[in-house]
Amino acid sequence: MAQYRSSLLLPEDRLLKIRDDFIKEAQAGLRGENSSCLMMASMMDVLPNGEETGDFFAVDIGGTNFRVILVSLSESRGEVARFEMEDFAIPEEYFSCHADRLFDLLADSLVSFAKRHGFSGKKTAPVGFCFSFPVNQTAVDAGTMIKLTKKFDNEGFVGCDPVQMLQQAIQRFKAPFKVVALLNDSVGTLAGACYEDPNAKVGVILGTGTNACYVEQVAKIGTLAKGATSRPRMVVNTEWGNFTAASLPITQADREMDETTPNAGEYHFEKMVSGMYMGEVARRIILQLAEDAQLFGPSVPDELRVPWALSTPALSKIAEDDSWVLSGTAQILADDLHLPASRCTYSACSTVKEVCLMVSRRSAALVAACLAGLLRHIGRDGSHGGMQATTVAVDGGLFEHFDAYRGFLRDYLDLLLTPEVSAMVQLKRIRDASSMGSAYLAAAVTASPE
Ligand code: ADP
Ligand code: MG
Repeated sequence: MAQYRSSLLLPEDRLLKIRDDFIKEAQAGLRGENSSCLMMASMMDVLPNGEETGDFFAVDIGGTNFRVILVSLSESRGEVARFEMEDFAIPEEYFSCHADRLFDLLADSLVSFAKRHGFSGKKTAPVGFCFSFPVNQTAVDAGTMIKLTKKFDNEGFVGCDPVQMLQQAIQRFKAPFKVVALLNDSVGTLAGACYEDPNAKVGVILGTGTNACYVEQVAKIGTLAKGATSRPRMVVNTEWGNFTAASLPITQADREMDETTPNAGEYHFEKMVSGMYMGEVARRIILQLAEDAQLFGPSVPDELRVPWALSTPALSKIAEDDSWVLSGTAQILADDLHLPASRCTYSACSTVKEVCLMVSRRSAALVAACLAGLLRHIGRDGSHGGMQATTVAVDGGLFEHFDAYRGFLRDYLDLLLTPEVSAMVQLKRIRDASSMGSAYLAAAVTASPE
């Protein structure tokens, strides 16, 4: 256990090293040099400001569910007159089917959603497409998919233009929609926040996966072709999920889990941070402790060996368990991992809880370190003098539903920033921001074409 405490609970100097390594990787990526952070120009050089009007749709996919929304933006500034939203589960076979089928599913859902909500279809409606995979963006409404991440393992995806694919699928349904903006969820989240908050400069996703984007000066984006925009600023997509550096605390459990993922060897940061993986990392550590330290008695319960049996929502319930003698934790171990009740002693439960807390703290600490790096890079960590209020917009199930996690993230940011700066940095939880922001961006690009 002592070994896990020292590898998962990172001291301040280690976190500062990670922050500095992240800045180095980010700046190399921005210059177009070899880097684990792709720092891609999102081509979004306008952000919504609340003055947009009309009806806009968004389709949002990239993790566990996908979502379709409709927003009607009224003449009064920043006011949403109508908002409709539907979540759809992604049936298991769609994680490995041909990409065409997945796009058909999206188009079908968009068309039937619009019908259900009485959309007449007399006029072509603009659609913002929130597509949360690494994409080399060539225009606001075009890009090439670079690779699959998270659970997705579909043929026909890599190299495709997601806008064309969705537009073609929509045409198969002869439906009046035009996909006008392609973005990922971090960009959508930032756009969602900008609609009502001019201090919003950074968007962060903490859900199935993790990513961040921020507003950059165009002159600093080395990868952007000259003349690509006449505007001074553009959103940069860090793709920090793939961040890697020698300072990252990758443990045996991380390495072994990584080998079982479709994108083995990549996205190490995401695999230490995000909701898809935290439960599984904790399960592997608990299994190791059961083998080495007889956590559950002389034999290791076979139930503990089932991959992905401990979900991150279950991990968060254990981490927050304050029930008498940790009966809540014992219950989760019985319900989710099917461990026999007789094996779940108080001492075992308390070790399991400590592991869940450490995995959660490590995630929050790593996010805080990279966020502090990003704030330093854009001159908003007080290191260049002058202090401005900065809003970091955050979306994703991990941040939204795991209360203690939000506390850890704040604590680590307070540790890494000076108190004066930390007080100026607001982590704003914006529910459904990525989908809302995609519709707002569809509106913003329709209102101000290049
Ligand atoms: P997506 O990333 O697919 O867009 P969400 O933003 O809703 O979807 O995030 C879903 C992720 O959030 C899940 O993978 C899960 O790990 C995590 N999550 C959901 N509920 C909780 C919870 N109570 N505690 C911790 N993590 C949670
Ligand atoms: Mg999402």
